[in-house]
Amino acid sequence: MKYIITPLFIISLFTLFFCQSAVAIEKVTDGPYVLEDALGAKQAYWICSNVVHQTRIIKNSLNRPDICKTLPAPKLNLSPYQIEKDVYQGVDKIVALSDIHGQFDVLIELLTNHNIITKAGEWNFGNGHMVITGDMFDRGDQVNEVLWFLYQLDFQAQQAGGRLHLLMGNHEQMVFMGDLRYIHEKYKVSEHLLSRSYDQLYDSSTEIGQWLRTKHTLVKINDFLFLHGGVSTEWIDRELTIGQANRLIRRHIDDENIKIKSDDTLNFLFYSQGPTWFRGYFSDEFTQEDVDKLLSYFKVNHLVVGHTSQTQVMGLFNNKVLAIDSSIKQGKSGELLLLEQGKLTRGLFDGTTLRLDVN
Ligand code: ZN
Repeated sequence: MKYIITPLFIISLFTLFFCQSAVAIEKVTDGPYVLEDALGAKQAYWICSNVVHQTRIIKNSLNRPDICKTLPAPKLNLSPYQIEKDVYQGVDKIVALSDIHGQFDVLIELLTNHNIITKAGEWNFGNGHMVITGDMFDRGDQVNEVLWFLYQLDFQAQQAGGRLHLLMGNHEQMVFMGDLRYIHEKYKVSEHLLSRSYDQLYDSSTEIGQWLRTKHTLVKINDFLFLHGGVSTEWIDRELTIGQANRLIRRHIDDENIKIKSDDTLNFLFYSQGPTWFRGYFSDEFTQEDVDKLLSYFKVNHLVVGHTSQTQVMGLFNNKVLAIDSSIKQGKSGELLLLEQGKLTRGLFDGTTLRLDVN
C-alpha cells in the first residue's frame, strides 16, 4: 500500500504536534512527595503550577506552602511501621473495594455516601475492617491524593480499633519495579520537575514507599480471603501459605526482574499465575470444583478479588468468588462490598445497598 501525502495528512500532523505540546505545557500541581535529601533527611516537595517548593518537616507537619492550598497536608506518622497480622477472626463488619486507580473524588464520594468516613474525610467505621484489594496506582491523575488520604485513614482506623488493609495489586508491583507504562501524563511532568523517575518517588527511601512496603498481598478475615487477582490451583500444588507469600513478595518487591524470574517460587508469585495477576475465575475453564478446592485449602468460604473489571460488585460461583473491581477507574462511579451482621451486600454509589446477585 502506498502512502499519499495529502493536505489533510499535513493538517493532522500539525494538530497532533500542537495537541501533544498542549499536554506538555499544562500546569501541574502535585504532591507532596516526602523524599530524602542528599544528607538522608526527609524533606517535603510540592509542585504548584509547575513550580517546585521544598519545605522542612517539623515534628509531624509537612508545612504546606500557602500557595499549594489544593494539595493534601497530611500529618506524618512518627512511630516506626509495623507489619500487621494477615489473619483475623471475629471481625463484626467488613467493607471492601478495589482498583481505585487514582480516582480520588469517586473514592471519597463512595465512602462518604456509606458513612465509612465522615464528611471531613475521617474514619467513621469504628472497629470495622476496610480492605482495598490493590491497584491504587496508575491510569488516573490523583494517585497522590488517594495515597495520602489512605495513609491518614490507616492510622485513624487503628486508633478506633479498626483496620485498613491495603493489599498489593499488579500496578503497585509495576510502579515499584519501574514499569511505568500506565502512569498519567501529569506524572511525567512531576518526574521531570523533581529530577526523579516515578518509581523513585515511591522507593523505599520515601515516606509513602516505606509505608506501602509494610503491606500484605493477601489477608484472611473471618471466612473471607482477600487479594487482588486470585489464587490459582497451582498455589495448592506448591503448598504455599498466606504468610509465606506475603513475606516473599515484601522481601523481593525491589529486586530486578531477572532475579525474580530465575527463582521458581518468585516467578510464580510475581507474574501471571500469581496472586496479583491471575484472572482464572473469569474464564469458562475454571470450575466450581476448582473453587471448592481453593476454599478448602485456605479454610474460607469466599475469595474476594479485584483486578478484572466488572460493571458492579458481583458474586460468581454461588457467591463463593466475589468480584469487587466495580470500574472505579472510569472516574464516574463505583461500588463497595459490605459485610455487616452476617449479611453480604453491594454498596451502591448513591449510598444504598442491594442484595448481592448470584451469577
Ligand atoms: Zn490489577
